[in-house]
Amino acid sequence: MSLDFDKRFEPAYGQPVAVADSVVRLTANNPSAFTFHGTNSYIIGSETLAILDPGPEDDAHLEALVRAIAGRPVSHIFVSHTHRDHSPLASRLKALTGAVTVAEGPHRSARPLRIGEIAPLDASSDTDFVPDLVVGDGQVVEGDRWSMRAVLTPGHAANHAAFALEGTGILFSADHVMAWSTSIVAPPDGAMSDYMASLEKLIGRDDRIYLPGHGGPVVSPQKFVRGLKAHRKIRERAILERLVAGDCSIPDIVRAIYRDTDPRLHGAAGLSVLAHLEDLVGRGKALSNEAPAIDSVYSPAS
Ligand SMILES: [Zn+2]
Repeated sequence: MSLDFDKRFEPAYGQPVAVADSVVRLTANNPSAFTFHGTNSYIIGSETLAILDPGPEDDAHLEALVRAIAGRPVSHIFVSHTHRDHSPLASRLKALTGAVTVAEGPHRSARPLRIGEIAPLDASSDTDFVPDLVVGDGQVVEGDRWSMRAVLTPGHAANHAAFALEGTGILFSADHVMAWSTSIVAPPDGAMSDYMASLEKLIGRDDRIYLPGHGGPVVSPQKFVRGLKAHRKIRERAILERLVAGDCSIPDIVRAIYRDTDPRLHGAAGLSVLAHLEDLVGRGKALSNEAPAIDSVYSPAS
């Protein structure tokens, strides 16, 4: 199964872009290797509004949001997950609008840190955000002629939630599924077993289109999510093959299977391999001399 990434995207910083009936996208000017052209905030509704993912702590983006809100009341601020490119502006936007913040919960990692382990994505975590309203899986929040259903999708982050705009076929997929790239799944912040279960959960839904946290829409979501799943399964098989071939450390495995990747990206690749190994050890398909960490010694299960 081939996975076609769509990198076409016009960020139009500061300008509201209508992407669906009563849904406007506003992209923050925070481009990077991880955020693509920047973070997408979405404004939902026409009279009393909801904002999804206010974005990074950025004055210009806050001003652009306030301009786009144009004096209308904002009842809710939805936050997909607590990474610094998505949640920090919630605090100032809440102070300006009086809106209720809604999320799965405050920041947490997918598992406790191992002794001597550092959280590589720690700098990207927003540990200040605490939602006013905590939503469970399937919970619906009603607004002014819109309602949003929480679809909990841990993996990229432990508290990651997608939100379905009921009755429209739109799923705000945030960083779980994006058209331009695979999402980063790196322990201890994220977990591969959660991520794969969250892909499976979306395969079981019938959303028409995804509006992600970065880049443009995913227009054939079912096919695309199946492709993402296949892509991870191929990577998993390659890692198991390296274990059988005698590689026992993450750097060895990375050197073998990321041969064509810029060595500067090998650190990130190592975290992705660790995510797979943690999952494989958990499923009894690989062995580790200790709780799986970046410097553990790995072997095939049989
Ligand atoms: Zn993001």
